Amino acid sequence: MAKTDIKNLPIKELESALKRLGMPAYNARQIFIWLYKNRVSDFEQMTNISRPSRRLLAEQFEIPALKIREKKVGRDHTAKYQFGLQDGSAIESVLIPMTRWHTLCVSTQAGCALGCKFCLTGIKGFKRNLSVSEITGQLAAVMAENPGTPLSHIVFMGMGEPFANYDNTLKAIDIMTSEYGYQYSHRRITVSTAGLVPQIKRFIQESKANLAVSLNALYDDTRTALMPINATYPLKQLTAALKDYHTKRRGWITFEYVMIRDMNDGIAHAIQLAKLLKEFPFKVNLIPFNEHWGTGYKRPDEEHVRAFQEYLVSHTIACTVRTTHGEEIEAACGQLGGIKIPGEEEK
Ligand code: SAH
Ligand code: SF4
Repeated sequence: MAKTDIKNLPIKELESALKRLGMPAYNARQIFIWLYKNRVSDFEQMTNISRPSRRLLAEQFEIPALKIREKKVGRDHTAKYQFGLQDGSAIESVLIPMTRWHTLCVSTQAGCALGCKFCLTGIKGFKRNLSVSEITGQLAAVMAENPGTPLSHIVFMGMGEPFANYDNTLKAIDIMTSEYGYQYSHRRITVSTAGLVPQIKRFIQESKANLAVSLNALYDDTRTALMPINATYPLKQLTAALKDYHTKRRGWITFEYVMIRDMNDGIAHAIQLAKLLKEFPFKVNLIPFNEHWGTGYKRPDEEHVRAFQEYLVSHTIACTVRTTHGEEIEAACGQLGGIKIPGEEEK
């Protein structure tokens, strides 16, 4: 019988599994501390668990770890890590140094099925969902590579659509925030979605982590042309779900807005965005398009980006322009999946 990857289980599920094996539930807390705080890779090292229990655990479970296949470091010290998974898929995480902290950008899927026209991950298509262990394993591996680095923020903005892998994303956040796990505050974790409305509604009820929404356009025709998912959940439905977030959570959502030359970078779009934001006190993060080999879209001129930002700021909207990190190593937003795997064809 195949063994279960123990890192796929949030603490409640581990407690139930242990009970079924006749072990006390409190062992789950001890095991969590061994796995996530002491980072052991063998049940034999869990010395406060009885010997027979350790043997039983080793019969039932395994403790695999993600292996870094390639690391590239950019001029600004942004580091892109590529992991090779057991089935041959590859995923990437990006470690972004900020002034006072570091942010880790993690993947939730190998590829993405939503097929946004500007995104290299989407252009390359979908392989599969990541397991919980593969999501938290990115954090574990990057932490181990960078001891002493204040890796204080986690963003689910790597490859894939977190809400298309909803359960595993929430379980991974559970382990990241567990006091026996990585002990992150929910406020330091942000999940970004292209706008899967049913999951946004669930997330509002079920998670305390921050939400970012890739808005990218204010008109349905433009948005559907860029993001096919908009045909299923058009802007009206999306914004209605987000209003709910605001009333229930009183929190801030970040709208991400990828600016593409001659698509959505004109001032008319800024005016429309400001109108929408009258109803929501949301933040806007402008991301000038990062060019890549998968599409002919172009980055807008800097003046356009500045004019867009100034219009929003003059209408009292909190708006930042995301500085591009790691573009030369293809680690910037939307460039993940850029490393060509041998035998794989460019689409
Ligand atoms: N699937 C989720 C999480 C991935 S986040 C989502 O789409 O929100 C990836 C972010 O990078 C999204 O905000 C997306 O709009 C943006 N992005 C994708 N391709 C890009 C590119 N080529 N240049 C700049 N931003 C891009
Ligand atoms: Fe998927 Fe997000 Fe890329 Fe769209 S932008 S294809 S949802 S990863």
